Formats: sequence, structure tokens, C-alpha cells
Amino acid sequence: MLKSRKGNTCYFQHTQFKCHSLYLYKLERKGAKRYSKIGFIGLGNMGSHMAKNLLKKSYNLTVYDLNKSAVMNLVEAGASCASNAAEMSKEVEVIISMLPSNQHVLDIYTGENGVLSAAKKNVLLIDSSTVDPLVSQSIASQAQKHSLRFIDSPVSGGVNAAKDGTLTFMVGGSSTDFDDAKSILEAMGSRIVYCGNVGMGQAAKLCNNMLLAISMIGTAEAFNLGQKLGLDAKVLANIVNSSSGRCWSSDLYNPVPGILPNVPSSKNYEGGFGTTLMAKDLGLAQSAAIRTQAPIPLGSLAHQIYRTIIAHGFSNKDFSVVYEFLKGKNEET
Ligand code: NAD
Repeated sequence: MLKSRKGNTCYFQHTQFKCHSLYLYKLERKGAKRYSKIGFIGLGNMGSHMAKNLLKKSYNLTVYDLNKSAVMNLVEAGASCASNAAEMSKEVEVIISMLPSNQHVLDIYTGENGVLSAAKKNVLLIDSSTVDPLVSQSIASQAQKHSLRFIDSPVSGGVNAAKDGTLTFMVGGSSTDFDDAKSILEAMGSRIVYCGNVGMGQAAKLCNNMLLAISMIGTAEAFNLGQKLGLDAKVLANIVNSSSGRCWSSDLYNPVPGILPNVPSSKNYEGGFGTTLMAKDLGLAQSAAIRTQAPIPLGSLAHQIYRTIIAHGFSNKDFSVVYEFLKGKNEET
């Protein structure tokens, strides 16, 4: 009895030791750096929540945004603030940006009083905005000339995931920079995926969102046609979601009101992922396709459809509103 208990204890201690060694080994092998002083630029719908999640993990945060009330909101939560990007860049070891689009990101990094003009050598720059992969690659090469490191890490998940710290980050850059960024990104997200060299995070994001737009339009078309033929939408959902037509848009984000209770279509298309952001991502996919000469006939059509939807007054609605748009068009004709 005594022998057996002793044996168990020894075995347990041995297991503990093995786990601990493995953990240290992983840290050593990766050589991942620990950072404490982070700068955050762009405190909008997404960035404000992401920055607050960094504060919750006790990072020492300095923030900057053109919008003073967005800055004050973060200062009240415990951050310091800077009066421009250059001032902030002098103080920190890592800079994260979450800005609307290409030109904002270029201005913040490469413009007058931009990040590159002031950041200390070897600072890690993480851009989580959704932009053209070419913009990420251009900033990365300019950053390298200033002895700075740059990765792109756009996100999927939307405002609720930003709030809950469950975003997916798609990262492009060197594997060393990825390892160094990972623990910081884990404070804001639940999936951190390495996609390859700089720009490949953006490439993954654009391809995924183009496919999402196409599948959402297809789902909306099929469900509108079904109802025009007299078919009950719930019956059609039951068939499609257990047949070959099934996709994320039909199964988990159905655009027909009343099929799923907690999706935007059942809440007057409020919240979710806006048509304006979808049109922006499709525009980026369109530019990338022209540049690389990759044919994207359905992606181009999806871009036109979302721009038309916006022109018809649906700019503040979730992108699944394409179903209402198609219904309205059919009613007109
Ligand atoms: P947003 O417009 O709400 O916020 C952008 C913030 O950047 C604003 O606070 C603005 O004042 C600030 N800003 C703009 N130019 C600036 C400058 N020169 N200097 C300092 N601050 C500046 O945008 P968002 O919804 O938070 O989206 C940010 C990025 O994330 C976009 O690229 C978007 O495509 C992407 N994204 C958004 C969502 C979403 O659901 N909102 C989901 C995934 C990805």
C-alpha cells in the first residue's frame, strides 16, 4: 500500500517535471520575446476593444487616435496617450495599428510624424487593418531600411469578437516576428494563424471574404427563388443544410429573417459585418486580381452587387441584407 502510494507520487512528480521541461523547451526553441510597452493606433469599432483587452492583460499601453473622445475612453480605462504617432513610437517596443484603409495606414507609418520616422531600432510593427497586400509589403520594406520589423495581421470576427477577445489573426511576416507577436495577439484573439511572408495575412483575409460574399449572394438568390416558387424557407434551409448546397451563409448566418434567431437577418440586419466593409474588401480583392491577372468573374460581380446595395441605402446594414435587396428588385420588376 505504502509502496504503491509512493510509486504514484513519484510518477506524478515525474509527469509534472516533464510538462514543465517541455514548456521551457518550447519557449527556448522559439526564443519568443516578452514585451510590456505597447503603442496602439486606431481606436474605432474594433481597435477600442482590442486595446482594452491588452490593458486587461496588464500591458503598459500608449494610444493615439485623431478622435479625442476615443482616446479619452482608453485613458479612463488605464492607457497613456500621445499627441501624434511619432511621439508614441519613441516610447514603445511594439506598435499595433487598426485603421480604416490603405491611405490611412500608409500615412501613419510612412507620412510626416509617422511611425517609421521615430520608432526605436528593432521595434515590432503589427498592422491589423485590412489593406492591400502590396501596402503591407511596401511598408515592410521601408521599415526594414529603418531597422524595424513589420508584420501584417488582419482579423476576422467583427466587433463582438474584438470585445470578447476571440478574433482570428491571419499573420504574414518572418516566423521569428510571428513568434514574438503571438502572445500579444493572444490577448486579443483565440486563433493566431501563420500565413507566410509579409502580405500573406492580407491575401488570406481578401480571399476568404471574397468567397464569403459570393456564397452569401448565392444563398440569398436560392432562398429568394425557393420562396417565389412557393417553398417554405425553413423547409428549404433544412434541405440545403443537409445537402450539397450547404455553406456557412446558409447554415450559420442565414440571410432570411426568422430561420436562425441570433443572426443579423432576424434583427433587421443590424450589427454583424456591414455592407460597406464587405464592398471595401471586395474592392481590395478586385485590385489584387487585376494586378495578378487572376480571373475573378464572381468576385467582380459580388463587388458590383455590394456597391449597388450601398447606393440603394443599405450602407448601415449587415451584408446578409443582399437577400432583402434581391427581394425588392424582384418586386420592382
Ligand atoms: P473605424 O473606422 O471604426 O476605426 C478606425 C479608427 O482609426 C477611428 O477611430 C479613426 O479616428 C482612426 N484613424 C483614422 N485615421 C487616423 C490617423 N491618421 N491617425 C490616427 N487615427 C486614425 O474602423 P474599424 O471598424 O475599427 O475597422 C478597422 C479595420 O479593421 C478596417 O481596416 C476594417 O476593414 C477592419 N475590420 C473591421 C471589422 C468590423 O467588423 N468593423 C471586421 C474585420 C476587420
